[in-house]
Amino acid sequence: MTYAFNQEDRIRVAVGLVDVAKNFAEKGWFPATSGNLSIKLSGEPLAFGVTASGKDKENLTIHDILVVDGNSKAIEPTTLKPSAETLIHAEVYKRVPEAGACLHVHTLYNNLISDLFFEQGKVRIQGLELIKALNIWEENAAIEIPIVENYADIPKLAAEIGEVLDPRIPAVLIRNHGIYAWGDDVFAAKRHVQAFEWMFNYLFLKLSYQRGAALPVEVAAL
Ligand SMILES: [Zn+2]
Repeated sequence: MTYAFNQEDRIRVAVGLVDVAKNFAEKGWFPATSGNLSIKLSGEPLAFGVTASGKDKENLTIHDILVVDGNSKAIEPTTLKPSAETLIHAEVYKRVPEAGACLHVHTLYNNLISDLFFEQGKVRIQGLELIKALNIWEENAAIEIPIVENYADIPKLAAEIGEVLDPRIPAVLIRNHGIYAWGDDVFAAKRHVQAFEWMFNYLFLKLSYQRGAALPVEVAAL
């Protein structure tokens, strides 16, 4: 198999992954070594650089990254192992050909929102300025982020994500697990994750406030 990338591309991808890992680590978005990040190297045939399984993303180096194919198999000699969830990155790249990077984090607020809205199969967000970070510019825009069950069977989970993803909305939530978000390049994907996380944080706090404000007077007075 011949891949259309060279050593320079390989290094650029590794450095890009280390940079985004550092940014997310500062926000505490890799609890207990969770999460995984990838940047595409070639579309046809598919190849992408991805963080290795079990590595501490808070101290990630360029040596913690391997290059895999569309079946999540390493395409270079390495002792590193891809995470089982690498299959989900491959699914996103297959379904969204323009995606150049895919980022996955387990955060407190994406978990809370994925559970609160699971029964609806999606979470709707409307009118927030940060929707523009997704390149959606209409006034009072509304977006719906799909939410899937957290299947332990990763091929099944990857297929489910492929089924529900909406190409206009660059993310899918997994119930009580985390978010997969992508973009044309790592800069866009990072901006998307930051926008989604901010909006989930906002939505959760707003719902909490509204529920608190709706308390009966006698309870609120306690
Ligand atoms: Zn995960």
